[in-house]
Amino acid sequence: MPQSTFLSTLKTFYFIVAMITTVGIAVAQHNHAPSDHAPNNRVPAKGFAVHSQDDHFHPYEFTRHAVGDNDILIEILYAGICHSDLHAVWNEQQNFGIKSRYPMVPGHEIAGRVMNAGKNVTKFKIGDYAGVGCMVNACRQCNSCSAGKEQFCEKRTVFTYNSKDHYHENEITMGGYSNNIVVSENFAIKIPKNADIKKVAPLLCAGITTWSPIKFSKVKPGDKVGVAGFGGVGHMAVQYLVDLKTDVTVFDVNDEKRESAKRMGAKRYVNVRNPQELEGLNNTMDFIITTVPVDYDPMVYVRMLKMGGEMAIVGLPANTNINISKLPLGNANRKIYGSLIGGIQETQEMLDYSVANNIYPEVELIKAEAAEIDKAYKKVVAGEVPFRYVIDMSTLK
Ligand code: NDP
Ligand code: ZN
Repeated sequence: MPQSTFLSTLKTFYFIVAMITTVGIAVAQHNHAPSDHAPNNRVPAKGFAVHSQDDHFHPYEFTRHAVGDNDILIEILYAGICHSDLHAVWNEQQNFGIKSRYPMVPGHEIAGRVMNAGKNVTKFKIGDYAGVGCMVNACRQCNSCSAGKEQFCEKRTVFTYNSKDHYHENEITMGGYSNNIVVSENFAIKIPKNADIKKVAPLLCAGITTWSPIKFSKVKPGDKVGVAGFGGVGHMAVQYLVDLKTDVTVFDVNDEKRESAKRMGAKRYVNVRNPQELEGLNNTMDFIITTVPVDYDPMVYVRMLKMGGEMAIVGLPANTNINISKLPLGNANRKIYGSLIGGIQETQEMLDYSVANNIYPEVELIKAEAAEIDKAYKKVVAGEVPFRYVIDMSTLK
């Protein structure tokens, strides 16, 4: 089992994440930078942006850094809408020290096709499918990167949007609600030819965000496990955990999802708004993953862990605290940790496994129109999303 790590509060964990994400660390400029990013080689791009936290989406034209020797240019075919995009657009991550920057083109669930490749590129050829998740660069040398955890780069990970790209003159990255992206081949994921490409994009965030902690906690067949929050991220956790032959209990807030949980192979569905459904669950779970996007009481789930059980927290509500003073004596060696997406190699493993085993998100395609994205955001908040909206970028005008 991994090292037990108690975090005094969730804020502490997210502060660390935020530090990695936003704090300027003295990093040698142009470290690993491509050799040919002269301004006149910049790549024109168009997509959708918001210009403030209260804004609607608008069509937006911009440019991306040139295709360097190690870079590929991807024509984006599909872009998923993750709840993290909503948090970022609406500037809901200030408590973690993450500042939203505008104009912002969100999107970190990207599936597309390689249109161009720098001269050193070996992993891709033109015409291949390629995917991009939540990050586009990291130092690849520090302890975290060497351990395959580039999302925790000690020099600072460059995230796919709303992030300062210190490999490219500190420009702010722009995400996948757009027609293309330029990325180092080292941060692009190979998508197998036989993949159901319409459904691949959400694997690049929702898939890896659940796959990674399931591996980290060494969840095994027969384990009793819980998934709190049964949305875009949660329904991937359920599918991986069912595939792993665990005994899955799903926790969410409405009754409409009861059938879907059963259909995906969960043993039990608990509507947490009915307190009687929570009875008898304390001390029963080996592993719980919480993907809840709004403030909630994580102690409800901590108490459900068996002695030595593990809880991975991946949801990003702003004000959720674990009261450490209530934990040490009666906590039965339970372990609680935060988890952030996953490294590049494990993302590739997750994608290959998912395609080979036909594990995909349930998606509804929407048109690449500003009003459609606005509508999708409203539906995600209202709980009316069919697990994941994916923007069909081929409909971009
Ligand atoms: P969704 O909105 O698709 O899903 C969230 C689900 O949680 C919905 O089904 C929602 O129900 C349900 N829910 C709401 N309140 C509660 C509650 N009190 N108890 C249990 N369930 C509840 O969001 P995503 O799955 O896209 O994202 C979930 C969270 O994970 C977000 O905060 C996101 O930012 C974060 N995230 C974190 C990542 C990481 O690497 N750590 C990566 C990706 C996402 P209803 O729809 O009915 O409201
Ligand atoms: Zn995401």
